[in-house]
Amino acid sequence: MSLPVDRKTDAPVAVGDQDVVLRADDLARGYSVGSFPRRNRVSAVDGVSLGLRRGEVLGIVGESGCGKSTLARMLVGLERPDRGRLVYRGDDVTAGRRRDRQRLRDGVQMIFQDPYASLDPRMTVLDIIAEPLAATGSGTRAERRDRVAELLGLVGLSTEMMSRFPHQFSGGQRQRIGIARALALHPDVLVCDEPVSALDVSVQAQVINLLSDLQRRLGVTIVFIAHDLSVVRHIADRVAVMYLGRIAEIGDTDTIYNSPAHPYTQALLSAAPPSERSNRGRLADRRILAGEPPSPVNPPSGCRFNPRCWMSQDICHHNTPLLREIDTNRHTACHFAEEALRRA
Ligand code: ADP
Repeated sequence: MSLPVDRKTDAPVAVGDQDVVLRADDLARGYSVGSFPRRNRVSAVDGVSLGLRRGEVLGIVGESGCGKSTLARMLVGLERPDRGRLVYRGDDVTAGRRRDRQRLRDGVQMIFQDPYASLDPRMTVLDIIAEPLAATGSGTRAERRDRVAELLGLVGLSTEMMSRFPHQFSGGQRQRIGIARALALHPDVLVCDEPVSALDVSVQAQVINLLSDLQRRLGVTIVFIAHDLSVVRHIADRVAVMYLGRIAEIGDTDTIYNSPAHPYTQALLSAAPPSERSNRGRLADRRILAGEPPSPVNPPSGCRFNPRCWMSQDICHHNTPLLREIDTNRHTACHFAEEALRRA
């Protein structure tokens, strides 16, 4: 039996609303899978709350299937949440009004993992990047062309490339074209879902540096989703660690990497190569994650990590831990976070 939880209190960031450009309150999204009589409901995201501060880079990490992409699609308005709400620049944009949804789509843009699949092969670079401008009726054709030239410069591509087609570019260059298109409408937020996973290792750093540079130059907020912990450490100001559809821990990057408090974060970092673990040599006593994550079709009650947790006690089976402030720089959803921190 899981005890009822007051999700309204599950708010991980204690910052003034004026600092928060996009806020997720208790977002949840499930999918129906299988067919009758074996129809099941996958709980992909279950009660995620977070506030994106203007100009920050928030990394989101977690094992495959923990709900990162589902959360990303909800943040950009590509999918409607089953529960909870999104507040963009102070307005609830989940209420279903067309105008609000459009505002969210213009102001919060997505960078996809696969730069090969996300660009229309029949369109020129000019048309691809100008598409959001044309769709919103911004400027004349000549003005749109000028803006495309400016955007190409911003992402480090030459304006001569405007008349070419996507197949004439490398993976890294295509991802730059995708970034230019995403920036066309001066968005507040870029949600980057595994933006470098499909690229050669040699090119990954260039695209990450570009995003970092854009964040500094334009003040754009970036959500950076990755399974590679070292990449996130490099770029993110804060990190959210997801497990089976929920946030296990969220806080400043250095705090999370140097002294993780959630047993799952400890295990995740312990499994990573030494360069991604703490500077201070903690976690020398490696935590090995036993087994696979449980199915999101029938997730464990209480703390979803309890079947794999070495600190699990009775309360963890029955009582869902809320994200709570463990120290000034982080919130952790574990009944025994302080003890886990001491024992790390
Ligand atoms: P991640 O990005 O962390 O790998 P996802 O958000 O892609 O996780 O998936 C979370 C869970 O939701 C997984 O169990 C996945 O199989 C399921 N899921 C995601 N999208 C769909 C969908 N369109 N239909 C059915 N199940 C889905």
